[in-house]
Amino acid sequence: MSNRTKAYNREKNIITFVELGLTGVYFYFLLAWGGASFVANMVRSWTAQPLLQFLLFSLIVGGIFSVVSFPLSVYSEFILEHKYGLSRQTLWQWLWDKTKGLFVSSVISLPILLAFYYLLKTTPDWWWLWLGILLALVTVVLAQIAPVLIFPLFYKFKPLENQALVNRLQQLLNRYGFQLEGLYQFDMSSKTVKANAAFTGMGKTRRIILGDTLLEKFSEDEIEFVIAHEVGHFVHRHLLKGIAINLASIFIGLYLVHLAYQYVLLHAGISDMLQLEYLPYLGLFLFLFSLVVMPLTNGVSRRFEFQADAFAVRAVSNPQAAISTLEKLAEINLTDPNPNPLIEFFFHSHPSISRRVQAIQKIIGGSHNAVATA
Ligand SMILES: [Zn+2]
Repeated sequence: MSNRTKAYNREKNIITFVELGLTGVYFYFLLAWGGASFVANMVRSWTAQPLLQFLLFSLIVGGIFSVVSFPLSVYSEFILEHKYGLSRQTLWQWLWDKTKGLFVSSVISLPILLAFYYLLKTTPDWWWLWLGILLALVTVVLAQIAPVLIFPLFYKFKPLENQALVNRLQQLLNRYGFQLEGLYQFDMSSKTVKANAAFTGMGKTRRIILGDTLLEKFSEDEIEFVIAHEVGHFVHRHLLKGIAINLASIFIGLYLVHLAYQYVLLHAGISDMLQLEYLPYLGLFLFLFSLVVMPLTNGVSRRFEFQADAFAVRAVSNPQAAISTLEKLAEINLTDPNPNPLIEFFFHSHPSISRRVQAIQKIIGGSHNAVATA
């Protein structure tokens, strides 16, 4: 591993911990230092209308956090990526992407916020169940519309141009009955030198998208492995299993948050579930729950990745291409092939490249000397 890769990953890890710390400190500021009470009183002095109070409170509390954490995102998403020669965006292009992202997340979260208010008001014992159902529906709808409505806001998509490659990939997909709406390429190179491909969408929008950077830098054998890996996820029904796990964690999480919140309110002698200064407790409990669940869902995801690799190595015409693909991806994306095992356990949805290469070598029985173990 190059020193550049080492330094890049060290900085990325530090940023992850700073982000977590900042979130913790912000909750402390809101709940222990009286930040939430201050905002709540201010909002109450502006209007007596409860819904408006709730919306203003949410906007200010969320807004302050966005402002406070903005320098960190400038650093991690723009400065750091330039420092290591990964980003191709100007500051204005990056800011424009951020603006579009803010717009998309506002459009999605405003109706959820309104539903949350209505549910806490009308069904204080069961709001978590109804909110869980709503979030499940939103997740499914978003998965369907994202490839056609959201991704095009950030990238230009067109059907995969290389016809020989299309035919080859189509044969692979047909062999396993993997039906897609299409194979697309997108202008990933307009923003970054990194390479990637993904399987996205649901139902009628189900498609595979390939970054032009991937098409440019990888051989057809290697691209076949990338797609075969996605077919592996399909054959093992990882998408369905992943959704089931997510739904379970949404419902369990919201229920536990509900119990903890009720305890806090009872302790404080408050009967109104929508008492503004206590609402950040819901965010705090959700944050703590996600910290506990993250290593579990990441563990499942890493298992799925090994299974998809194992499937792909056996499905492709050139299994050696699996190893060169992973090594090349790590090199281009500056991925640490041997991350700290604890960091991998908690934060990584994919196994380390060196472990993936080892598992693949075991299957093909080759004696390839992985750079990853160096
Ligand atoms: Zn995968």
